[in-house]
Amino acid sequence: MVQSIQLIVQEADRTDAGKGIARISSEAMTRLSVEPGDIVKITGKKASAAVVALSNQGSNNISIDGYIRRDAGVGIGDTVSVEKAAPTTANRLTIQPVGESIKLDGKQVSDFIHQRYAGAPLYNGKTIALPVQVQQQQKQDPFESFFGNSWAGSFSSSFSTQYYEFIVTDIAPDDIAVVGSDTKVNYKDSAYKGEDGPKGKSAGNIHYEDIGGLGRELNQVREMIEYPLRHPEVFEKLGIEPPKGVLLYGPPGTGKTLIARAVANEVNAYFDTISGPEIISKYYGDSEEKLREIFEKAEENAPAIIFIDEIDSIAPKREESKGEVERRVVAQLLALMDGLKSRGGVIVIAATNLPDSIDPALRRGGRFDREIEIGVPDKEGRMEILQIHTRNVPLASDVDIGKYANMTNGFVGADLALVVKEAAMHALRREFPGMNPDDEISKEKLESLTVNVEDFDAALKV
Ligand code: ADP
Repeated sequence: MVQSIQLIVQEADRTDAGKGIARISSEAMTRLSVEPGDIVKITGKKASAAVVALSNQGSNNISIDGYIRRDAGVGIGDTVSVEKAAPTTANRLTIQPVGESIKLDGKQVSDFIHQRYAGAPLYNGKTIALPVQVQQQQKQDPFESFFGNSWAGSFSSSFSTQYYEFIVTDIAPDDIAVVGSDTKVNYKDSAYKGEDGPKGKSAGNIHYEDIGGLGRELNQVREMIEYPLRHPEVFEKLGIEPPKGVLLYGPPGTGKTLIARAVANEVNAYFDTISGPEIISKYYGDSEEKLREIFEKAEENAPAIIFIDEIDSIAPKREESKGEVERRVVAQLLALMDGLKSRGGVIVIAATNLPDSIDPALRRGGRFDREIEIGVPDKEGRMEILQIHTRNVPLASDVDIGKYANMTNGFVGADLALVVKEAAMHALRREFPGMNPDDEISKEKLESLTVNVEDFDAALKV
């Protein structure tokens, strides 16, 4: 009989995210009779699977990333049942985009899956992130599609690569199975709309593991936003009013948007964004109607998160200059927030870098009455952020990320992401001087390409 044990879900290491790994202690490995590299089935509300790796955490814990947590239908702190799996080779499987339809070349998808997921456990409902080239509308960066783009071949000036979420459907045999050379991979470009996935707009593939240096703040976010959406019954039983609105404040580029998206993903919530300046200008004349629509849709699709970016631009204090449109939009927003049912499963997250310039009426009870400061990261925070952003970058062995975390006092997450990107660009120019965007790069050259100290120093202009 297969031995199964109960373990408590923990967040994955930032460097493990997206790799399909479950880290458990050596004691847990012994109890399960598994070794690193074996595959385990992880069951919460649903079943998922991952490759075992060693952790130095407690023996009752299992560290899995946001994708596996979602597949298993669990959150951090939940208990899962874990057992050794004996996967067979899949005969066939289908991949479908989540949320929106995406047209891709079926052969490329199949090649990519065979290459990247060879030997990895797949199952019905497994979420995977694939790099997709998207056409850039505005600013073009000729080298954007280079890193992470392992399947699209040549690179072109009008495309950039972004990771999109896909799901495995229709796998045969319908169990945990690995991809083998004979596995037939089909691609279906119509959007997958599962019963339990967010209906309509979702927050994309951002998870807690993609946010660095905000451990304490993320705990607050989880308590204020994730728990009430995930376990409304507990709040009801205890008679606690869950918040309707949470204000995230701090300098630009520190991760406020990331947090809103990650928490929405964690509870599989419907997610919609309102940009403060846009609601005034883009929908001029229809701003109130647009707001009403957004709230209505969110209530219909609860659990839902509405994210209002730069809320200060629509809701400045009364004494500061405020036009007629702003006045009406604020009044509408207040009315909509007051109209939200307290247990209606909709939470509004607003972000600002000017908390003191917001209309105080918005910060009263029942509106944005919880606040979390999202500050500039310290050295450890910068280290975590650099680790996240170099996760998919081929670093040369001489690169010491700790040194750059030390040198970047005052840098926020967005600045650090840019440093990594500039270093990668420098590597590209160094290795391929005078290259045209349409030039083909040989596979060997691509494989040997790394980002080294010189590139980081150049990015930091030291
Ligand atoms: P804000 O909403 O606070 O202005 P964002 O969340 O939009 O900032 O961050 C912009 C980008 O900067 C992110 O997409 C990410 O690449 C990077 N970034 C910012 N903060 C962090 C962080 N704490 N950890 C990792 N990356 C970050």
